[in-house]
Amino acid sequence: MANRFYTIMIVPENAQKPRQLHIPAWLIRVSLILLPILFLLAITILLDYRYIASQVSENRDLQGENRKLRQDVQLYQSRLDSMESSLERIENFSSRLKMITNLMDRDQLSQQLESPLPSSVIAEKTTDTKSNNPVEINFDQITNRSYGLEQNLHELYELLSDQRSFLNALPTKKPADGVFTSGFGVRVSPMGDGAEKMHEGLDIAGSIGTPIHTPAAGTIIFAGKKSGYGQIVMVDHGYGLETWYGHTSRILVKPGQKIKRGQTIALIGNSGRSTGAHVHYEVHVNNIPVDPINYILEN
Ligand SMILES: [Zn+2]
Repeated sequence: MANRFYTIMIVPENAQKPRQLHIPAWLIRVSLILLPILFLLAITILLDYRYIASQVSENRDLQGENRKLRQDVQLYQSRLDSMESSLERIENFSSRLKMITNLMDRDQLSQQLESPLPSSVIAEKTTDTKSNNPVEINFDQITNRSYGLEQNLHELYELLSDQRSFLNALPTKKPADGVFTSGFGVRVSPMGDGAEKMHEGLDIAGSIGTPIHTPAAGTIIFAGKKSGYGQIVMVDHGYGLETWYGHTSRILVKPGQKIKRGQTIALIGNSGRSTGAHVHYEVHVNNIPVDPINYILEN
């Protein structure tokens, strides 16, 4: 029984000899069991293949989406950056405005001269965030900063409402068209002697004859020659504020004269201790020279 064979005869159409295949019976039995298993296996593999193929196409879609999202994030990041820089400009503006308007409070003045920018808002730049996402961090920072800024501006509004004459006295404009060539502070003297000297004003270079406008309303207290300054105009704006304009080529006002904001008071020149045509601009608060740049609100 175990050695039984099945014989399959193959009879060709032409006159060749028929061929015989002897297949052991056990092989037939094993085949009957194995074939359905192989068939099931083939179907499983086929289904698997189709699933994987669909996954591959989905993956490709996701990659595309991912690329687009990354581009979006970059776009948001650059918009955030520009929001941040405008916020910074507003903060700066607000800080200056706050500082110069706080002049009304004489008790705080000496403190302010020591720390020119009371950047309460800038100090509020928060780093306290748990997120690792840079975009989220920036959003948090910007939200906090704009909140601080809003508060600050609100305080300013309260402070400024009803203070028109005081505002009019503040030297918030650049007194002449031209380039800032030398700032307030200690510098090596431009006269070539190598000495370090305190420069108590701001130099704005311009061609000879460029008009100098007073940045605030006031009264002329001096107009004439002063050692080192050449032909100089000094203006009293009230509230302890004075502005000086040195090295002018021509003076257009007289002592005692009342002037309006923006009025032309002199022309740029090269008089006195000067190495080129410019106006030497000083701002004094209670007779102490301060950095004029902190008062200029325009760019
Ligand atoms: Zn100067």
